[in-house]
Amino acid sequence: MPDKEFLEEYGLYRKFPFSIDASMILDSVPRPAIQRFCPKCKAVRTWTEGQDYRHRVGYCPNRAEPFGADMEQNLTYPNQSVMNCTIYFIYFCTDCISNHEFTVVEYLILFECKHLGATGYIMKIGQNPAPSIDIPPGLQKYLGEYEETFKRGAINENQGYGIGAFAYYRRIIENIIDALLDDIAELFTSDKKKNEYLDKLTEVRKSKDHSRQIAVVKELVPDELQRSGNPLAILHASLSVGLHELTEDECLELAAATRQALVILNRHIQLARSEKTELSGAVETIQKKLDKYTKKRGDSGKDSA
Ligand SMILES: [Zn+2]
Repeated sequence: MPDKEFLEEYGLYRKFPFSIDASMILDSVPRPAIQRFCPKCKAVRTWTEGQDYRHRVGYCPNRAEPFGADMEQNLTYPNQSVMNCTIYFIYFCTDCISNHEFTVVEYLILFECKHLGATGYIMKIGQNPAPSIDIPPGLQKYLGEYEETFKRGAINENQGYGIGAFAYYRRIIENIIDALLDDIAELFTSDKKKNEYLDKLTEVRKSKDHSRQIAVVKELVPDELQRSGNPLAILHASLSVGLHELTEDECLELAAATRQALVILNRHIQLARSEKTELSGAVETIQKKLDKYTKKRGDSGKDSA
C-alpha cells in the first residue's frame, strides 16, 4: 500500500481498506507505478514515485502515541511504523523525465489503523494538482447534455461526498441507458448471441423500468465484459439500490464503481467501432486489389484470345 488502484482511482477522503504489519515502515511502503493522464504529454503515461525525493518527505504522527512504546525511537525517520501517520508521496511522469522535464503529482496520504493486523484504511487527504473532473475521451457522445452532471458527480466524488456523487451519476445512467443498451449489441462477435441479446432487449423494453431492463440482459453480454466484473451488473446494482439505505462511504464506493462501469462500457464500444472501421477499411483495400487483379487477368485473357 498505497495500492495502484487506490492511487489512480480514489478521490479525496475515500477510505481504502488497509491492514498494517509490523515490518511496514516509511521506506518499505510499496510505491507502485501508476497510469495517469499527463498534461504535458497530453496522453496517459506511466508515473513512478520519486525515490530521490524521499528526503523531502513530510512525516508526522497523527496521534499523541503512535505505535510502539518508545515515542522518541518511533519518531526517528525512516524506521518508524507508518501506522497513524500522514505521508507525502511525489510521482513523476516517466516520459517527461526522459525529456528532462518534470511533471509531478503529489499525494498526502493518511494511514489509519487501530493496532497491528487490524483492518484500518488509507485515505488521500490532499492532492496537487487537484483531482481532475475531465470527461474521459469518447464519453462525451453518451453524456450529451449530461456532461455538466458528470462533472458535478466527479467534483462530489473527488471531495468524498458520496451521496451527492452517487445521485449525479445515477441521474446520468437513468437518462442514457437506452442508448447504451442499444450500443452494447455492437460488442457481439457472434450473430446468434447478438440476436438473442436484441430479442431479449426488445421484449424487456415494454417495461419502462430501467433496472429491470438491465437485470434481464446483463448476463447476456459478451464474456470479455463479464471477466473482471460485469459493468452492466454494476449499473443494475446502482439503479436498484435505494439512496436512503446507504451510508456516505457506501455511496462513495458505488458512485466510483458506477463511473468506472460507464467508462469501461464506453471504452469497449469505442474499441468495437474502431475495429469495425479498420476491418471494413482493410476489406475495401483487399477488394480493390482483387478487382484490379481480376481486371488484369481479364485484359490479359483478351490479349491472348
Ligand atoms: Zn509527461
